[in-house]
Amino acid sequence: MATDPASVLELPKPRWVSDDVAMLYDMAARFLTEEIAPKYEEFEKAEIFDRASWRKAGENGLLCASMPEEYGGSGGTFAHESAIIEAIGHVGVDGFGIALHNSIVAPYILHYGSEEQKKKWLPRMASGELIGAIAMTEPGAGSDLQGVKTRAERDGNHYRINGSKTFITNGQLANLIIVVTKTDPAKGAKGTSLIVVETDEVTGFERGRNLDKIGLKSNDTSELFFNDVRVPTSNLLGHDEGQGFVQLMQQLPQERLQIGTTAIAMAERALALTIDYVKERKAFGKAIIDFQNTQFTLAELKTETTIGRVFYNNCVERHINGGLDPVTASMAKYWLSELQGKVVDQCLQLFGGYGYMNEYPIARMYRDARVQRIYGGTNEIMKLLIGRSL
Ligand SMILES: Cc1cc2nc3c(=O)[nH]c(=O)nc-3n(C[C@H](O)[C@H](O)[C@H](O)COP(=O)(O)OP(=O)(O)OC[C@H]3O[C@@H](n4cnc5c(N)ncnc54)[C@H](O)[C@@H]3O)c2cc1C
Repeated sequence: MATDPASVLELPKPRWVSDDVAMLYDMAARFLTEEIAPKYEEFEKAEIFDRASWRKAGENGLLCASMPEEYGGSGGTFAHESAIIEAIGHVGVDGFGIALHNSIVAPYILHYGSEEQKKKWLPRMASGELIGAIAMTEPGAGSDLQGVKTRAERDGNHYRINGSKTFITNGQLANLIIVVTKTDPAKGAKGTSLIVVETDEVTGFERGRNLDKIGLKSNDTSELFFNDVRVPTSNLLGHDEGQGFVQLMQQLPQERLQIGTTAIAMAERALALTIDYVKERKAFGKAIIDFQNTQFTLAELKTETTIGRVFYNNCVERHINGGLDPVTASMAKYWLSELQGKVVDQCLQLFGGYGYMNEYPIARMYRDARVQRIYGGTNEIMKLLIGRSL
């Protein structure tokens, strides 16, 4: 029987994994294995998921698990989101963009939306009718988000939005996009506002190319163009204009931790796959695992992944109790994504030439892992933030 990525580290169950979180993990893993994995190759080739899979994920409780039940969610916490993201990583369908939808986009609406906005959008996000994206990055503004140029000008009870965004996850499928705009460019960061664009209801919105990436092929990533897009002023998130930067900063710990979730889950899967492979594959008359180099490599990787998992569990514990500070969240994003890159790279080496072949999952993991050190704030930016706390 194949080694189970969820148990490869042999750690005791952490406190944050309550019975319902464990049940959700099992349910999500079963759904992803039975419904998504068989079609995953097709999505990788098409470089996009289909909407039907989002709907099915909604029907099976995989969307908006941490949103309150009154808004169509399952009333869980980040622990529940973590269970789903870990299942995605362990099953190996990393391109399914529901982590961003669930634990980045929906929380903005929950935390800053009016009652009316929450009732309007969250139940449709929970069903998969609305697919979420967040558009911060522009061709001229990535790490330095203060440089955002997309402008939202008031025009009676509407905003007129003009500008362009790039590298937007779920950008081809999304029909609810939180757009980072400048409502008052003279005020810099204090003139930044988050405005929701429901793309099915506006004119002047265009999607550019589905960008050709080296990994995460099945997760569409796009350019977006806003040409005089008119949305009601009631689509502003928060009571007043100019709150956008503060809102972004407040949500960063969860966004960064979530990248850590993907990282630790993939590291565990890489280890599990590699342990199985080196037991089967033979060279010089013995199994690859019998070489001391293989044992030492895997011993180091298992140790470091265990350290990573213990740190991750501690971060989740702190986060669900409201105490994960931005610096620790930056450490989690930086260190766990570096760990993921190292584990996947060294595991691939143990597969030899087969590791370089796309038909072996480890090859895809190698490509998929790379972006984790770049998006969500590059690891250099993480170190800058950690450095400021010294
Ligand atoms: C697959 C993918 C999906 C993405 N999804 C989204 C999304 O959904 N929404 C969204 O808004 N964005 C998204 N992004 C954008 C991502 O967040 C940015 O690419 C990232 O923040 C870096 O910005 P940049 O690409 O402009 O790089 P730059 O900011 O140009 O950085 C280039 C290099 O300079 C370094 N650097 C920059 N500033 C400093 C500094 N002060 N000190 C030291 N080094 C520095 C960086 O670390 C990096 O190595 C995505 C990107 C990718 C690749």
